[in-house]
Amino acid sequence: MTTDANGLAVDVRGLRKQYGDVTAVDGIDLEIRRGEVFGLLGPNGAGKTTTVEILQGNRDRDGGEVSVLGADPASATRAWRSKVGIVWQDESAPAELTVRETVRHFARYYPRPRDPEQVIGLVGLGAKADSRIKGLSGGQRRRLDVALGVIGDPELLLLDEPTTGFDPAARRRFWELIRTLADEGTTILLTTHYLEEAEELADRLAVVAKGRVVAEGTAAALRDRFGSEAIVEWTEADGRPRRERTGTPTRTVTELAGRFDEIPGLRISRPTLEDVYLRLTGQENAR
Ligand code: ATP
Repeated sequence: MTTDANGLAVDVRGLRKQYGDVTAVDGIDLEIRRGEVFGLLGPNGAGKTTTVEILQGNRDRDGGEVSVLGADPASATRAWRSKVGIVWQDESAPAELTVRETVRHFARYYPRPRDPEQVIGLVGLGAKADSRIKGLSGGQRRRLDVALGVIGDPELLLLDEPTTGFDPAARRRFWELIRTLADEGTTILLTTHYLEEAEELADRLAVVAKGRVVAEGTAAALRDRFGSEAIVEWTEADGRPRRERTGTPTRTVTELAGRFDEIPGLRISRPTLEDVYLRLTGQENAR
């Protein structure tokens, strides 16, 4: 299995991981193309973090084939590591150093780092460059983590729940950062609980539940494929609201048009990606 020959940054076949009695990953297949932003979506305990850790070379697997940038992460070399950007959570940076000192320090680990000042600006920490890490807010800390993940100018960036704990404004700024990196050609894999985030950012996404991929494609394709039913709502002549779930909304509306000049309160809606997601992950009754 060679990833580079077929334009894939990540090629995973039949990945399996067991923690004692718990099957965390139960035969996952993934193909991520070079230059793509790929979203791994799923509820708590679906196996997302385990999968990302295996791709990073930080966790052993029990089965399956994994190729990341043309190599098996289980036998990763230093050169391979310098091409894969990992965003660590929290503990990697010493609290007494400033943002600038930290980013410069990490740049020295890489053969061809990005310019530290440019990276600080990219993550929106220009005004905080001389602040000590211990004085940063949670969202600023997370952006510093991302700065450290991209300072080596990685070909592939692996982000595990990058915006958990962000306020909405910080999340939007972060999305802009991801788009900028993607425009510059970085391949990005991100895991998220947020459908909105996956829809905003990901060229394609895979929905994972109980260690398996239950659906894969663009957000629009998933909605079309799994959410083909429409909901037709209208108000009856006696004033009662009616609601019908149907695979043939045109037929329903045509029938109604035969009974009304103008159909009162007519509304036709398609399932949102969230409806589709909840159905796929078996949480349909969660709403
Ligand atoms: P979340 O969204 O909550 O982060 P996830 O999709 O990332 O979840 P994982 O963290 O990969 O899921 O966990 C998958 C399963 O494996 C869960 O049942 C979890 O409890 C279990 N698990 C994860 N890490 C370990 C570990 N180190 N030891 C034992 N069990 C683990």
